[in-house]
Amino acid sequence: MTKPKESICITKPKVSIVKVEQPEGNAQFMTGKYVRDANDVQKIKTAVGKAIELSIGSLDSIIKEGQTVLIKPNLAFQAPPESFAVVDPRTIEAVVSYVKENSKASKVFVGDNPSLGLHVGRAKPAFKDSKMEEAAYLGGADKVIYFDETDVVPIEIPNAKVFKHATVFKPFLDADVVINLPKMKVHLAGTVTLGLKNWNGIIPNCHPDTQQQGAHRIELGQKMSDLYKIRKADLVIVDSIIGMEGQGPHAGTPIEMNLILAGTDTVAVDSVAAAVMGFEPMEIPAIRCAGTEGLGEIDLKKIDVLGNSIDSVMKHFKRPNGDPIGMYAGLTCCMQQTCPGCFVNVRGALDSFANSGIDMKTFLEKSGEIVVIAGGVPDFEPELCIDKNVFICGDCWELFPSADKVREGAKLANSVTYYPGCAPVYIFAQLNADLQKLAATCYTFPCPK
Ligand code: SF4
Repeated sequence: MTKPKESICITKPKVSIVKVEQPEGNAQFMTGKYVRDANDVQKIKTAVGKAIELSIGSLDSIIKEGQTVLIKPNLAFQAPPESFAVVDPRTIEAVVSYVKENSKASKVFVGDNPSLGLHVGRAKPAFKDSKMEEAAYLGGADKVIYFDETDVVPIEIPNAKVFKHATVFKPFLDADVVINLPKMKVHLAGTVTLGLKNWNGIIPNCHPDTQQQGAHRIELGQKMSDLYKIRKADLVIVDSIIGMEGQGPHAGTPIEMNLILAGTDTVAVDSVAAAVMGFEPMEIPAIRCAGTEGLGEIDLKKIDVLGNSIDSVMKHFKRPNGDPIGMYAGLTCCMQQTCPGCFVNVRGALDSFANSGIDMKTFLEKSGEIVVIAGGVPDFEPELCIDKNVFICGDCWELFPSADKVREGAKLANSVTYYPGCAPVYIFAQLNADLQKLAATCYTFPCPK
């Protein structure tokens, strides 16, 4: 007797892509002035509702009566909405308002902890400056939670490859339901930052544990994959109203998309979002690592894309370039043996500095030449530093055989600034700020182009 063939039912994860009716405020927002228009919030809310409906049917499928809901946005760092690095306040308001009106949740919280390491990046001012706090309360949030002011819980991450032990903010673990609300944007270290990378906010940087800094050193994608094993999001909603392309997350440029994406499989949502941005999912370290580990679906052919097709909405985002070497005559980066933790953050600082309207050629002529050093520099010659302004990044340069040459160079320099830490993510902001100070001493802004 022949056995009947077993029927295998494979359900594809669903990811919805919904167009938002053109928000009126976008034109002004794109030119540098955020405007909250109630009609725009309503348009985004309508798209959020449709995206949820297409991907999960109704919020009742993930939120039971009386449960608490935490919405975890991407509050990247202390920045205004016009930075386009943080979630659009209109999307925050729309999502909170939709969840309040369309679920039986007892409480809806919005909480996060911004990045950038020890020296900058606290949740309270970041929520305020990004206008997310105001938006969350306009939407009806019960509380905005500054993660860095809460307790942390030590966690052994099951099956972690790199990030085996983490301390995690308690409100993230306590919530019955977690909605991941990333922004569609590029990232020097992560190529793009979407749902998986957004979990970097569940671990501390300003808190005494400061794990975010280490996460950015190297193997960022694997670390995000490991963090995702702590707890998966119950729903991911991607803020793709105005994305960021180019030298993100600090010096990127806005790109209008007017989309909301949603789904329950973060890897699948990120894969679709990456494709919408013109990337192959396998190009993105966090998606690649999580997909390879079987934490979700990375194969676009195995994802049910609902609403609009990827091809119909795709725009090729300008790719971020994290290499700081050889950008300007008179500004020498010595980084022969360094890891991305210093490498890309120096590039980010230089991009932000150049974006502030400074003409680099004039600046370097007036300020004198600059040398930036990180890691091991076997080919470095101390004489390079004679009478120059020298910036030495990170801790590990002292561990290399070239350390004595760096010390010798520092003695010959006009000025030396050290950025301790590993990874000193804050140099993104601090090196830029120190270059601005240097510029202020040598000419009047704005510098003639
Ligand atoms: S200090 Fe060294 S190991 Fe640490 S981030 Fe910088 S280059 Fe990498």
